[in-house]
Amino acid sequence: MARPLLVSAILEHGALQFGSQQVISRETHGPLHSYTFKALAHRSKQLANALLGLGLKPGSVVGSIAWNNYRHLEAYYGVSGTGMVMHTCNPRLHPDQLAYIINHAEDEVILFDSSFAPLVKAVVNHCPKVRHWICLADESHTPSIEGVHVHSYESFIRDQSALLDWPDLDENLGAALCYTSGTTGNPKGVLYSHRAIVLSALSACLPNVLDISSKETVLPVVPMFHINAWCLPYASLMAGAKLVLPGPKLDGASLYELMESEKVTLSAGVPTIWMGLVNHLEQHNLSFSTMRRTGVGGSAMPKALIAKFNEVYKVDVRHGWGMTETTAVATISNIGGEEASWTDALRHELVAKQGKSVFGIEIKIVDEQGQTLPRDGQAQGELMVRGQWIVENYHNSEQTALVDGWFPTGDIATIDEDGVMQIRDRTKDVIKSGGEWISSIELENAAAAHPHVAMAAVIGVKHPKWDERPLLLIVRKSQDFADKHAILAFLSERVAKWWVPDDVVFVDSLPVGGTGKVQKSELRIQYGSIFSE
Ligand code: ADP
Repeated sequence: MARPLLVSAILEHGALQFGSQQVISRETHGPLHSYTFKALAHRSKQLANALLGLGLKPGSVVGSIAWNNYRHLEAYYGVSGTGMVMHTCNPRLHPDQLAYIINHAEDEVILFDSSFAPLVKAVVNHCPKVRHWICLADESHTPSIEGVHVHSYESFIRDQSALLDWPDLDENLGAALCYTSGTTGNPKGVLYSHRAIVLSALSACLPNVLDISSKETVLPVVPMFHINAWCLPYASLMAGAKLVLPGPKLDGASLYELMESEKVTLSAGVPTIWMGLVNHLEQHNLSFSTMRRTGVGGSAMPKALIAKFNEVYKVDVRHGWGMTETTAVATISNIGGEEASWTDALRHELVAKQGKSVFGIEIKIVDEQGQTLPRDGQAQGELMVRGQWIVENYHNSEQTALVDGWFPTGDIATIDEDGVMQIRDRTKDVIKSGGEWISSIELENAAAAHPHVAMAAVIGVKHPKWDERPLLLIVRKSQDFADKHAILAFLSERVAKWWVPDDVVFVDSLPVGGTGKVQKSELRIQYGSIFSE
């Protein structure tokens, strides 16, 4: 039968087959919230009826500015289930960019967490098409904002019926919308179809991807405003896995406490989150009782950290690659049967690469003329991707985003004969020194292995003779350590001599954006002329 692949079917499946499975949610206010998949389905339908009651229709867009919490989850299902589009906004965008994406997406309703009230205040007068502002809270935690009436989510849905037959939609219609972070120019919208989300979530459940089943307790640290939290809020209901939503507290201590108290087995997030968690574990001499697997991506996970998770904390790392334009995970590294017998060092090296494309996705690398390069692990070129859940056009743009049917990612990669892809750098981050390329990722990886380094970032800095030279910025584990020469000597044993950075700057912290990635654009502004001064 040609039944459509729909987001509402995921919710119905979760509620009917795993109705008593739990969703735990850490809230901005009050204790942990806990309820079942069945209750989630009930309230998602109440929300859907409330939105329909406002006159919204299939195709209407509902925005959210929110953490990972249960009301946001209800919106994921209630909005998309009716055929409306769930537009998750990144709260770390500059207010001008936030207003830009709300207007560009034509959001009619905005759902927001009370902690983002100041942000809402900043944009409210610049978003003329938004008809309703709804705070994801009860009445007592709903702020008042000058010039608009703010509804409380709880009073908005309270008297609504939970009777609703989800419409049989065309699976190719948009279900969710997410904008790129717009480091260059305005953010661009990627509209995810129901089909893309269902297929991508199914893929996440596969054993070689994240291996999600009803045996797992899943904690997505990756925000629900960032690429659908890599589809984990969907995959967990599909698989019947307990879902733990961490709300606003993403520091090492808070995550550890939640992982332990809720017996989390599987988590997912960007490397900076795991660095914070490992620092906390090390400082307090802690270990995990139940955590056994983690999905990492968004930026490169250093090999030293993979080794630590694996050997010290007994956590299996799955290192994935994807981008806003790929709905969720497109490639993932994982240890298969044969590699299980390799040495620890070789296995960690393999996991530090970004892995094989998952079924449904194809990858290739091309040179500057667009010619396909060999899969030999040596040739490096721009990574191109195509597949069932890859963008074709940006939202509201007539122009195709593809080149000869493939999406050009702006990442430089190698692919070996086994299909293992390794990201060498982003085109905008690679350092061009004397006509040759230096990979900032590889230098960061090498620096992260130094015992005094908590975090490392490398940028290319303008140089009068070599065009660009690498500069290494380091956050130290202990402030007492300040030996640049020791760091550079350490690196010179691990990378080619001409790759060794020209200087090291010790910093207290690195600028991290809303999705947890180091903002190299900010570092380039601050340090970009240090070698020509
Ligand atoms: P942005 O980082 O610009 O906010 P995205 O979240 O869409 O936007 O990021 C996608 C980019 O992140 C990829 O093009 C790639 O450069 C980088 N990336 C994602 N996963 C990895 C990874 N595992 N290793 C290295 N880089 C990664």
